[in-house]
Amino acid sequence: MKRFVEGVDRSQNVLFPARLDDYIEEDHPVRVIDVFVDELDLRGLGFAGVEPASTGRPAYHPATLLKVYIYGYLNRVQSSRRLEREAQRNIELIWLTGRCIPDFKTIADFRKNNGVAIRRVCSHFIVLCRQMKLFTDTVVAIDGSKFKAVNSRDKNLTQAKLKARLEQLEASVARYLAELDRADRAHGRVPAIRVKHLTQKITAVREQVKQLNALGKVMQETPDKQVSQTDPDARAMATHGRGSGIVGYNVQAAVEATHHLIVAHEVTNEGHDRHQLTAMALRAREAMDQDTLVAVADRGYYKGEELLACEQVGITPLVPKPLTSNSRANGRFDKRDFYYLTDRDAYQCPAGEQANWRMRTIEGSMNIDVYWSSACPNCPLRDQCTTARYRRIRRWEHESVLETLQCRLDERPDAMRVRRQTVEHIFGTLKAWMGSTHFLMRTLPKVATEMSLHVLAYNMKRVMKIMGIKPLMQAIMV
Ligand code: SF4
Repeated sequence: MKRFVEGVDRSQNVLFPARLDDYIEEDHPVRVIDVFVDELDLRGLGFAGVEPASTGRPAYHPATLLKVYIYGYLNRVQSSRRLEREAQRNIELIWLTGRCIPDFKTIADFRKNNGVAIRRVCSHFIVLCRQMKLFTDTVVAIDGSKFKAVNSRDKNLTQAKLKARLEQLEASVARYLAELDRADRAHGRVPAIRVKHLTQKITAVREQVKQLNALGKVMQETPDKQVSQTDPDARAMATHGRGSGIVGYNVQAAVEATHHLIVAHEVTNEGHDRHQLTAMALRAREAMDQDTLVAVADRGYYKGEELLACEQVGITPLVPKPLTSNSRANGRFDKRDFYYLTDRDAYQCPAGEQANWRMRTIEGSMNIDVYWSSACPNCPLRDQCTTARYRRIRRWEHESVLETLQCRLDERPDAMRVRRQTVEHIFGTLKAWMGSTHFLMRTLPKVATEMSLHVLAYNMKRVMKIMGIKPLMQAIMV
């Protein structure tokens, strides 16, 4: 017999369970949120409103609102307006809040006013993971990714953009003026309304020029010569795709290699990763409570001072060197073709000659030793080596740190694969959860709060998967 699955008759009487608790299974993820928040010392974490006020309308307990947010971020409902709607119709959220239905303003204000405390909750979950012995490995992968801010590209101004826009506007004014001249010469053949329209356009463009010039003055006073009009902390950042730069934030994450949990994260508005390695590795080591740590990162983190700082604090970096040699690009020998002779403090060049130490220079804060060989002018390989009379080889005073790093990388050819597999998918997952507009809040501290909620939700989901719901709840309640 052919048939479909039938729904029930809407007018039929039904006996739904009378207890709210009967709607939520014993191993439902929402129970983890409930137990986790109930076990938190909200006052100690710095949440406002833990004590009810003696006057006025009773407020919602911060635990209720925190549960709403954690639920929202676990289920891709980050907006306060959508959370208000969900609190009215979603049985899981109704169970979680005990039928409290805070309005969107209350929900939004809670996230806005308790940023620091919410960030501490995220760190507290990492501490829990550590207590549950989830950080057994001492390898972390560090990476950064650009996340979009609430600021369109048009509302971000750099010197180059300002120049281009002013040129465009000037060209428009010139075009409209030429049309007005033509209308004058046409002796009334151009309708008056067209002339009026052109005049209005010229006024509007001149007003825009005035505004842009005013913004240009503000821009000149900023350290990085950049202005974002909607979110003042957001910055224009280049991404991998050609012409696909965004205005946003650079989110750094340190992810441990066994369970892929985010042990440390940071939101910055620096468009590159070069200054982040030591700070992120130190945070990760502290979060994991380890004495030693191997920090794997991509070429974007390669910076001599950062690598040295890591070594000095007992962190072992694994970062490949960027391939930026002009000599190699032009088909000439690059620095890898020269071998350092430690006992002689000299280099052996591809022609077998010895390049001796000649002088020391200071570049930025780095002491650089310079070597060259007297044999260069008569060398048969000179065309493959240099365009100058002598090939100069430059060596940082701590170059041995970089050489040791390279040896370490040679011994671990899978390091970059481990890095990719550990950290990259996390950014993809978080961005998919966030949707096409990544952050909903403006300014760095608020965006950092939002990111903490995302990271907390991500880690919670991972631990639920790794341990199971009931064991996790038991571990939280211990
Ligand atoms: S040009 Fe100088 S440094 Fe280069 S291979 Fe010849 S001798 Fe060596």
